[in-house]
Amino acid sequence: MHEADNVGIVANDGGLPAGTVFPSGLTLREKVPQGHKVALVDLPAGTAVRRYDVTIGYAEKDIPAGSWVHERLLRMPEARSLEDLPIATVRPRAVEPLAGYTFEGYRNADGTVGTRNLLAITQSVQCVAGVTRFAVDRIRAELLPKYPNVDGVVALEHSYGCGVAIDAPDAVIPIRTLRNISLNPNFGGEVMVVSLGCEKLQPERLMPPGTIPIADQRGEPQGLDVVCLQDEGHVGFMSMVESIMKQAEVHLQRLDRRRRETVPASELVVGVQCGGSDAFSGVTANPAVGFCADLLVRAGATIMFSENTEVRDGVAQLTSRAATPEVAQDIIRELGWYDEYLKRGSVDRSANTTPGNKKGGLSNIVEKAMGSIVKSGSSAIAGVVAPGEKLNGRKGLVYTATPASDFICGTLQLAAGMNLHVFTTGRGTPYGLAEVPVIKVATRSDLARRWHDLMDVNAGTIAEGKATIEEVGWELFRLMLDVASGRKKTWAERWKLHNALVLFNPAPVT
Ligand code: CA
Repeated sequence: MHEADNVGIVANDGGLPAGTVFPSGLTLREKVPQGHKVALVDLPAGTAVRRYDVTIGYAEKDIPAGSWVHERLLRMPEARSLEDLPIATVRPRAVEPLAGYTFEGYRNADGTVGTRNLLAITQSVQCVAGVTRFAVDRIRAELLPKYPNVDGVVALEHSYGCGVAIDAPDAVIPIRTLRNISLNPNFGGEVMVVSLGCEKLQPERLMPPGTIPIADQRGEPQGLDVVCLQDEGHVGFMSMVESIMKQAEVHLQRLDRRRRETVPASELVVGVQCGGSDAFSGVTANPAVGFCADLLVRAGATIMFSENTEVRDGVAQLTSRAATPEVAQDIIRELGWYDEYLKRGSVDRSANTTPGNKKGGLSNIVEKAMGSIVKSGSSAIAGVVAPGEKLNGRKGLVYTATPASDFICGTLQLAAGMNLHVFTTGRGTPYGLAEVPVIKVATRSDLARRWHDLMDVNAGTIAEGKATIEEVGWELFRLMLDVASGRKKTWAERWKLHNALVLFNPAPVT
């Protein structure tokens, strides 16, 4: 990955046997699995082991050249202190704006643009989930055929709303997350809430007056449309279901009038993350996403990267790339808060890595982070979004501070206002979201071949020398415009695969 590195990885499918001789003369001393590291030179005990020109660990004992360098041979470095970081030191090179790229999107009254036309039904508490699901099945079967311009109906189910310490300071995070997801551009500003009645998260607390800009613009006095299951007017289960269906139809009628129109690529709000990462993530898929991120910034779009524990070891890269000292301070504040959050649970960032990451060749979180952070490309970081907050007009490259957990990261990026999601994976995951399209990028051709009807882009061609990072980056950029326009569906959409929303709740439950 860098000329100063003293390890490389085996790119070949299936790994390479002992005795393999490379053109440089290096000979493998043992069998090394695909994606795993090889010592390029002798590494005496205590040597800094370097990949991506970064120390990913120290040799626990002498490691001769040609040996397999696995996680048991490495001692992980301490996390860098959040003091004395370089602040906004990198002056990004001037780049030419990328003009002329457009997609077909749904322009909302508040200026945001949707990529799908969906009715979302917000729930104030988990208690109503079963009833809402029953009603949604009937809406799909009985109402949607009457409204052909609506792509679908989504129940925003979650586990929050009651049995929680709702006045704890950190409870603002799950509450604002749910509020802001309800306002995602794909829902056209149509908000309806199903409430139980006695829950802690009362609908007025979830959606206070003035939080639904489109309802305000329409001059709707009541502001919030709530179906409350404990209302005395409801006699029997079917009466609840019919109330939900009746209210849903009001919103479906308005959503059905939405039409796609040609909008500039600057209206894309792309959230990127990775999951089931391997040693190729930082070699193929993530660099291609990073190249594409730079294209999006040049096109005036918004691109969010996230995953606190996967940038923590690269914090100096982030603060130096911050567009202003204020942005750098926001990064330090969010990562510092997250350090404390992990400490409360008696762990640190190293709790991130999974057995699959290690099987895929990633020795520890430092190595994983260096491969993860390249998704952000090379642009200046223009802003920071706290967990559950909206972008509020921020454009360009934005750090949206979220846990790395796939479901929680996706949920928080939805709340920020993303209208398209890009997900890279090396081990493979069938991840999807019901609320926005998810484009999945495989890091290896072996995965792309086996999961041919789940992976949308194969970045493994980069490791095979069949395509360049730039070529795959452009392929992804063009696919984004097609998917955003509804001209193409992602595999997860075709199969209707989607994961649950998972709210980030750092506050206690009761
Ligand atoms: Ca993730």
